[in-house]
Amino acid sequence: MNRIYLDHNATSPLRPAAREAMTGVLTETGNASSVHREGRAARSRIERARQRIAAVVGADAEAVIFTSGATEAITLALSPEIELSGRPVCCDVLLISGIEHPAVRAGGRFSEDQIEIIPVDRAGLVDLTTLAAMLTRHRNSKRRAFVSIIAANNETGVIQPLCEIATLVHAAEGIFHIDAVQIVGRYSFDLAASGADLISISSHKLGGPQGVGALIARDANTRIPPLLRGGGQERGARAGTENVAGIVGFGAAAENVALLMAEETAHVASLRDKLETGINSIASDAVILSDAALRIPNTTCFAVPGILAETAVIAFDLEGVAVSAGSACSSGKVGSSLTLAAMKIEPEISRAAVRASLGWNSTEADVVRFLEVFSRIYAKLPSNHRTKAA
Ligand code: PLP
Repeated sequence: MNRIYLDHNATSPLRPAAREAMTGVLTETGNASSVHREGRAARSRIERARQRIAAVVGADAEAVIFTSGATEAITLALSPEIELSGRPVCCDVLLISGIEHPAVRAGGRFSEDQIEIIPVDRAGLVDLTTLAAMLTRHRNSKRRAFVSIIAANNETGVIQPLCEIATLVHAAEGIFHIDAVQIVGRYSFDLAASGADLISISSHKLGGPQGVGALIARDANTRIPPLLRGGGQERGARAGTENVAGIVGFGAAAENVALLMAEETAHVASLRDKLETGINSIASDAVILSDAALRIPNTTCFAVPGILAETAVIAFDLEGVAVSAGSACSSGKVGSSLTLAAMKIEPEISRAAVRASLGWNSTEADVVRFLEVFSRIYAKLPSNHRTKAA
């Protein structure tokens, strides 16, 4: 049975361009810090990838720091001490929304008691009035805020009003970091236009290899105390011999995204619309979360009250379709979703929330098959559970 993969927000399959680029590099040797020809060749491959990754978000290549993934990039970024445009800046509090990825919730190098949560509305959008009040309160008490916000939520796909947030943060002389992991390659995103001081991105969400990511500053003259000290790689920002094949694959994926994004996102958006129309026509009691808000075009988070998410995910899997429970945590166990709880979604909907996320290799046939399977799963639901169904 052909598998249908609809879990691009967990990880997107490796793009052929990335695989080819990596395969070519795996047979080469050379440490990018060595001065001989092999070393120089590795260095130039890394620098080419750095330019491609910078280009995809409109950044300066010198502002890109390679890491082992977005979790490390975020942990590096969330630092109370930072040098921005050559000026040392100390932050006293970390403000994050209630719908952040666990990597941001962990707070980086801020202590737990320095972290404050900005509420979100029912669609999952940051409450700007409360954020403004929090920033004013801290500023009046001579505390500087570091604000970290997820650009597009991994569970619902909701996109935040980034420019408005940046304006508020900068008016209070704070620092603004964006977790741009799910937005890059899926919706237009430009680092300068977003207003962020720093962004974190991950290779495997855009069809590059797993285990590589980047922290990118708006101003290349930004210095953050390193998490890893040693050989001084990445201009002292991150020690350790570079993952050349991973970085090259990341660069190739970024170049491929830059080339194909307009076409891919239009295609994915039309598939997502068909998928949601199909879900609604099969199950009139289905709820599509945040469907009235601006979302990245690949993500659907839906719930049928009465079908537990973990039951649905297993049923889909047995029929060859890979989707996730909106509330799946990294260990694979299904707990309650902190994102949906922050949005004050009722527990019977939250417990039923399933995420289908499409991507660069999704097809019309995938959507048809998904809907066939969904229709069979729904048909098995006892009719007394179909609260709104005709
Ligand atoms: N931020 C978001 C929004 C994510 O979805 C993820 C991955 O699931 C991460 C951060 C962490 O990225 P990585 O897997 O590269 O550590």
